Amino acid sequence: MSSSAPASSSSNSPLPTGTNSKGLGMLAHASIMMIDDEPILVEVVRTFLAESGFTEFVSITDPTLAIAAIQTQRPDMLLLDLKMPKVSGFDILKMVRQDPYLKMLPVVVMTSASDAETKLRVLELGATDFLEKPVDPSELALRVRNTLAVKAYNDRMAYFDPLTSLPNRSFLMHQLAGQVRRSARTLSPFSVLQINLDRFNKINESLGHRSADALLVSVAERLQACIRGTDGIGRPADQPGGNSLSRFSGDEFTAVLVDLPEGLLAGQVAKRLQDAIARPFHIDGNELFINASIGIATFPNDGDTAESMLRNAESAMRESKRIGPKTIRYFNSAYNRESADRLALESQLHRAIERGEFRLLYQPKVDLRTLEIVGAEALIRWQHPERGLLTPNFFISIAEQSRLIIDLGAWVIDEACRQMAEWQHLGIRDLKVAVNVATPQLAENRLSKDLKRSIGRHGVKPSNLIVEFTESILMQNDQEIDIAVKAVAETGVSISLDDFGTGFSSLAYLKRLPLTELKIDRSFVMGLPGDKDSAAIVGAVVALARNLGLQVTAEGVETEGQLQFLQSLGCNQFQGFLRSKPIAPQDFIALLK
Ligand code: C2E
Ligand code: CA
Ligand code: CA
Repeated sequence: MSSSAPASSSSNSPLPTGTNSKGLGMLAHASIMMIDDEPILVEVVRTFLAESGFTEFVSITDPTLAIAAIQTQRPDMLLLDLKMPKVSGFDILKMVRQDPYLKMLPVVVMTSASDAETKLRVLELGATDFLEKPVDPSELALRVRNTLAVKAYNDRMAYFDPLTSLPNRSFLMHQLAGQVRRSARTLSPFSVLQINLDRFNKINESLGHRSADALLVSVAERLQACIRGTDGIGRPADQPGGNSLSRFSGDEFTAVLVDLPEGLLAGQVAKRLQDAIARPFHIDGNELFINASIGIATFPNDGDTAESMLRNAESAMRESKRIGPKTIRYFNSAYNRESADRLALESQLHRAIERGEFRLLYQPKVDLRTLEIVGAEALIRWQHPERGLLTPNFFISIAEQSRLIIDLGAWVIDEACRQMAEWQHLGIRDLKVAVNVATPQLAENRLSKDLKRSIGRHGVKPSNLIVEFTESILMQNDQEIDIAVKAVAETGVSISLDDFGTGFSSLAYLKRLPLTELKIDRSFVMGLPGDKDSAAIVGAVVALARNLGLQVTAEGVETEGQLQFLQSLGCNQFQGFLRSKPIAPQDFIALLK
């Protein structure tokens, strides 16, 4: 049995267990890497393994690349040739055993040398098993299966909780690290729910450990059933990419929600979990009632590493405990005060698009030299049936945590284009209209497609449309984002960088991406002209922008003093209450006249 469970996120991933058709269980999906300089032998083994039902086979025929490949691909086992040019199987085996993250990796050495001395040496170096060349197909299948079965068993001991059979905390850390990588790549949010039973210690004390354990098992079953019931595309819950439940510690469970059916939100799942647990349990002739407190953290807003996601979900859970039993709290501290509201808003938000409850207001963008209105920023509002007109602070971040933001974003683009066409029709001079976009809209090139569709439908000039990205979107330095941003630029719309200065400080991406405008965040404008730091920053940004051939717009201008200072710097445009708040389209026309 493995005594040192690989605890780091970069160690081998635990093998799943379960069943499949060829009697191999999930072992069929274990990844087997073969390192052999003889391509024909590799093909023979590949064929044998495929016939035996193994589906994941990778091969390396250049032994100098082997270690790097093992480190990046993390196979579940190695089939290793001994005699290879430049780097021998001995060398590779030695390196594997010296690598702290690979030292537990099963290695089956393939050798035609049947002399005892070679075998002894290989065993001393830590080989798991031998396979004689030429390879016999049934022998190969047997060795591979046994080797993987032992690994799966070790993984099970290291990664699963014996009481509830749920994955344990080590497994969770692995899974979260993988999920963070996947979500960062696919720009898809996921949530961590930290679930803690209320008053569990009391039950433990009054009923004894045996009943308390039985209760934990039943709780785990109900939670698990709920989680499985929420899987979006019916993936088994313990496979990568699916929703999953693990036992975090004594009476604490962690759900990772990756894939929810359209319209279902993490907060609603949390509520279902609470309701499932609130039904009475019958344990050893007692009827037991128990509640759970739940904290929710959502990637990437509430954390961008496995550790920070867990920490923040836990802190939200502790906060919910503090408030009282059966509470749900979001980590996102700004919304904590309104989390009850938020739950209600979440579910109403879904219907709001269909019911046409959103509006766009327009805030004028003013040329700093002529003081003429040259454009507008479209800002969304929700005309809520009971609560009146809501600003985006109340709902954009909620929408961002589900697929809703994509539909909402598409609506904003289409409505802005419709409005531009209407204004054009009324003979109003060319106005440039800016829309705000959120990160998830960039996934799968959605944004450029949505832009093209609306531009075509309403017959507006793409050059009159601006999309505003935030610094954090562009800073991700991700290929998919770069491609998506370039696709947006190719539609002919301009790209503006919103909230400039609030993100990170590296400016490399300013050159890399096809930007046309920087918007200086209101927090810098606020201190002008008196605050020296703000003045220095704004001055530097204007100079930088000019250097890069970008236009600069200052946001949140409220005073004459700010206006004059910005004029003196040579800033191009401003927005702010000094000229106008965001207003309805008909008021905008009035303002133009
Ligand atoms: P933002 O893009 O930075 O928009 C500027 C915000 O500053 C607007 O708030 C605007 O009303 C406010 N503002 C403008 N001038 C002044 C001023 O002189 N003083 C003060 N105190 N505030 C001023 P709003 O409309 O509440 O929007 C807040 C944020 O919501 C926006 O920040 C933007 O990030 C987001 N947002 C708005 N509409 C959309 C949308 O359609 N899609 C997405 N994804 N986000 C949106
Ligand atoms: Ca904006
Ligand atoms: Ca802004």
